[in-house]
Amino acid sequence: MAVYGPWGCGQCHACARGAENYCTRAAALGIAPPGLGAPGALAEYLIVDDVRHLVPLGDLDPVASVSLTDAGLTPYHAIVSSLAALPAGSTAVVIGAGGLGHVAIQILRAITGATVIALDVNEEKLMLARQVGAHHAIPSDDSAVEAIRALTGGVGAQAVFDIVGAPATLEIARQTVAIDGVVQIVGIGGGVLPTGFFSTPFGVSVRAPYWGTRTELMEVLDLARSGAIHVEVERYSMDQAPEAYRKLHDGTLRGRAVVVPGD
Ligand SMILES: [Zn+2]
Repeated sequence: MAVYGPWGCGQCHACARGAENYCTRAAALGIAPPGLGAPGALAEYLIVDDVRHLVPLGDLDPVASVSLTDAGLTPYHAIVSSLAALPAGSTAVVIGAGGLGHVAIQILRAITGATVIALDVNEEKLMLARQVGAHHAIPSDDSAVEAIRALTGGVGAQAVFDIVGAPATLEIARQTVAIDGVVQIVGIGGGVLPTGFFSTPFGVSVRAPYWGTRTELMEVLDLARSGAIHVEVERYSMDQAPEAYRKLHDGTLRGRAVVVPGD
């Protein structure tokens, strides 16, 4: 079983349609997702409060698939809500090709007709981006805006997914989103994107999504089952967990670290 993470009350309008990530009562009820606001990670066992928060894995490998509950679900939720902007011939920019970004690239390739441009500051992550299907992978630096404009014939990208969300990356997003396009601020890097007539191109919408819905997690697992997406995983034992955190801090993990009790 995979555990659906953003637990809600289960009874409000959002929860009733599976969008417990947007539960209107979770905060008031003191509901905190396991491992994000409440203890729950790095344990042999986890108490799940309701059977609705479990999604069958079927024949998917648990260690290879566990990261899909966040690294797959979070970008999937952002991309699905931008589908109308991403027909064939469009361009999607993914800023950050790490744990979430390298899955975002695969999802874009699987369910949209967009050309995918990946940005990162790390050359190894740019290589990973190309390996998982990015059409272009370019350095996330002062040259990025000009490069994206050149790759899109001056038009810009119909959708920009900022998986970093820092001030510098949001400025790249602002300068590269196309007229009538969409910016999805997925990363929690603390940046703010001024939106309005004198800041963003005409018609641009900016959204800061959070995690994803229960039905979207089912769809993410179905995409993995079909072979369309996967998470690059580094496997660690409980004793090696501090090393995994060190690599996460240093930005040297390839994809996601999975700590496996009993290894
Ligand atoms: Zn609710």
